[in-house]
Amino acid sequence: MVKIAEKYSRLQDQIPNDVTLLVATKERSTKEIQQVIQAGASVVGENYTRPEAQKKYEQLDSTRDQVEWHLIGHLQKNDINTALTLFDVIQSVESYEKAGHIDKRVEKAGRDLVPVYIEVNSAREDSKYGIDPEFDTLYSLLNRCAQLNHICVKGLMTMGPYVENPEEIRPYFRRTKQLFDKARDLDLPNCDIETLSMGMTGTYQVAIEEGANMIRLGTAIFGPRS
Ligand SMILES: *Cc1c(COP(=O)(O)O)cnc(C)c1O
Repeated sequence: MVKIAEKYSRLQDQIPNDVTLLVATKERSTKEIQQVIQAGASVVGENYTRPEAQKKYEQLDSTRDQVEWHLIGHLQKNDINTALTLFDVIQSVESYEKAGHIDKRVEKAGRDLVPVYIEVNSAREDSKYGIDPEFDTLYSLLNRCAQLNHICVKGLMTMGPYVENPEEIRPYFRRTKQLFDKARDLDLPNCDIETLSMGMTGTYQVAIEEGANMIRLGTAIFGPRS
């Protein structure tokens, strides 16, 4: 069996330097997370604020400060206060309402400015969160977020549909990249789009080809989830 550290290093060597490898740690033990951090991981992503991320955060103790924590799963309104104590970046903002709820709670969490990404539902799936993949929709959301002084929109994130063949996801990644390019050119307060987070174990190569500069990998590093 190839060790976690080895898999992580191999992947890190494989991907271009300007692409950030976020390690998706849902359902992985604190020990596994420790191993990947020791191997040099610098960004981890969790899906569930409570109790999962909170528990691991506590158990990891000082090791947790060696990495940036990203929330990559849906954020429930009643988890926002906790999320703001755990996560450096919230990748799953899907509405102005959610952005506003976060903004309102930032100072109480002892922070000043929280980076967030907008989640794009690139294949318009009923089962997924995110805005429709339309520039008008994104633009009006960013325009409203521009008034929120305790968040800064730093990127876009998409999951895309589940596919058997990675080629099938290409049009959705391409669409999201188009939105990213247009959003990057905007000059709005509290908006400084620089990260495009897309691609998982089965699809990260296509995502990089289509312009992702952050990929989110779990299975490729830890093996299949049980
Ligand atoms: C689980 C998950 C990943 C990683 O998926 P793998 O297929 O295990 O690499 C990435 N992003 C999100 C949002 C996830 O929930």
